[in-house]
Amino acid sequence: MRIAEMNWMQVEAYLKRDDRAVVPLGSTEQHAYLSLCTDGILAERVSVEAAEPLGIPVFPMLAYGVTPYFRAFPGTVSLRLETYLRLLQDILNSLMSSGFRRILLVSGHGGNEPAGALATEWMADHPAGQVKFYQWWRGPKMLAKAKEFDPILSHASWFENFPWTRLTGVEMPSKRKQLPDRSGYPRLVGKAMRAYVGDGNYNGYYRRSDEEMLAIWRVAVAETREMMETGWD
Ligand SMILES: [Zn+2]
Repeated sequence: MRIAEMNWMQVEAYLKRDDRAVVPLGSTEQHAYLSLCTDGILAERVSVEAAEPLGIPVFPMLAYGVTPYFRAFPGTVSLRLETYLRLLQDILNSLMSSGFRRILLVSGHGGNEPAGALATEWMADHPAGQVKFYQWWRGPKMLAKAKEFDPILSHASWFENFPWTRLTGVEMPSKRKQLPDRSGYPRLVGKAMRAYVGDGNYNGYYRRSDEEMLAIWRVAVAETREMMETGWD
């Protein structure tokens, strides 16, 4: 359940029977024709739906992440790595002092991966706490389901186009996007990134049927729930 629907007394009562919490990690960044907040919308929604039957509180999604490569796209906001890690540290410390001991970070954005390294360092400093960093969109079961429909999926492609990330009245191209391969080259930033990636989709079609997207979503929710239920010491 969303922490927004709880008061502190209810959290105190919850902590007498459980010590798990979920923090979704988003990013406000270009997603081609989709919402700038796609990563946060997806991370939060998959977390809330997965946590619902378990009664685990889901904290407000962290709307900003690390996305320096997209800074030339209007509406993108990137935290410096140092800021991001300090922010996460403060969040983990606060949860720990509340009494949460098992914290699942559910990330919707690849640039937030430093949070995984931070989680490890944080646990070394706080032996009583456990933090798992989980990228819901990399879950092997959901990826296998998605690839049944289309193996070419990427940032801002159909893979992130759910009824809750697309924008009313915005038409999607029907072509399949294909960017030139840049493996072995440095990651592009600034205007060069914008020139390379064009509308923002990396590769693949822009949309697929709702039926397929909902089938993928159901697997993602179940797989995220498994991360909440199992794999704790
Ligand atoms: Zn995304």
